[in-house]
Amino acid sequence: MILYTIMPDGTVKQLNPFTGTEVWAVAGRRVRPIVNEAVVSAKPIEIHQPEDYCSFCQTRYFETPPEKSRLVKSTNGWEKIDLLPPDRYFEKTAEFRRTGNMFEIVTLDYWRKNYAYKMTAGRQKWKEEYLANPVGLKHITDITHYKLKQEGKTEEQIAALPMAEKFAIADAFFGGGHELVIARGHFKPGAALNTDLLASGDLSDDEHYHYFKLTVDAIRDITASNRYVRYISVYQNWLRPAGASFDHLHKQLVSLDDWGASIQNQIRMLRDDPNVFNEFGANFAAHHNLVFAENDYAIAIAGIGHRYPTIEIYSRAPSGRPTEHSDEEIRGVSSLVRAIHAAMGGQISCNEEWYYTPFDAVYKMPWHILIKWRVNVPAGFEGGTSIWINPMTPIELRDRMVPRLYKLRDEGKVSWLRIAEECRVDPNPLKYYLK
Ligand SMILES: [Zn+2]
Repeated sequence: MILYTIMPDGTVKQLNPFTGTEVWAVAGRRVRPIVNEAVVSAKPIEIHQPEDYCSFCQTRYFETPPEKSRLVKSTNGWEKIDLLPPDRYFEKTAEFRRTGNMFEIVTLDYWRKNYAYKMTAGRQKWKEEYLANPVGLKHITDITHYKLKQEGKTEEQIAALPMAEKFAIADAFFGGGHELVIARGHFKPGAALNTDLLASGDLSDDEHYHYFKLTVDAIRDITASNRYVRYISVYQNWLRPAGASFDHLHKQLVSLDDWGASIQNQIRMLRDDPNVFNEFGANFAAHHNLVFAENDYAIAIAGIGHRYPTIEIYSRAPSGRPTEHSDEEIRGVSSLVRAIHAAMGGQISCNEEWYYTPFDAVYKMPWHILIKWRVNVPAGFEGGTSIWINPMTPIELRDRMVPRLYKLRDEGKVSWLRIAEECRVDPNPLKYYLK
């Protein structure tokens, strides 16, 4: 199987070893600009302090479902507060908040109807306490009303709905498995234009680590609250072309009773060859000079066989799930991911997707994160041939990142990492295959 061929005219034909996706980067089509149109239409903004630009902003805590967890900065450092009573939401500013998603992809009803899922006693108690609090009752009444309106119900229809039914809708806010982790800032400090949004790369290394850690904690908590969950899809859609409905930094977690075809296939590959993620991931990339950054905990690769220019970051840890990583290991992965975001800048629309060993898998895959640049729109050619045209070759992607990483490191804006030729690229750098 030939995965990577550079043709004499410069066309790069690629086959993704893990998904089978066939991709060409065609010479001559690559010169298209890759920065979003948004930059062209950038407008000055009126600064509001504290920020109140969207439902995820710090003055609008009651526009999201109840808060499961928040992180605040105190004199003792970072503090995690779970299930804060609603009348105390505004006592402190949350650096990151974890809440349900008002519009679930996989709904609470899905779990109830298909698995007879019941909310845990802890969640049930939280819900009762929340509704017994007048501020909480008003919050739930308001967002249930808002949700019904968004789903197309009229005022009359909503008024006619029995209270019990409204509270049943609200159950999803407490016991659902589609969650958000939301950052504090909407715009970055010193913003002047509507495109100066706070992106992952604008967080400090420490903030980014806590953003990751809260997301990893959410994975652990969701699996503890719903025993039917086999996998949780974790992703971050950045800007509208990547599917974001808010231009405000956040991650999403969606609980699933399935692995999906792609992970199923990868687990099958792992059964045949436990070292496949080194062989076709890290080692393959090293042989083709596509490893362009690393630290002691993770390596970054310009990926092959993706529909969009894609950077792959692999954890080197022996464990296959982020929930089994030590804090130090999470910090290391987070740091490299943040460096990649910082080098890209906040103007490129992208998806950050997490992959890891499913909870009920006995074959281990490494925790890895794909950052896909949503700079091209697949068209009819792709639909008809199943050959996808990617506007950048992996080498171009690498060469775009490397000088920016050097610059950030020189300026002291990223933590320690090896770049380009400095990378050691030892054979089998990913240790997930060890027991
Ligand atoms: Zn906002």
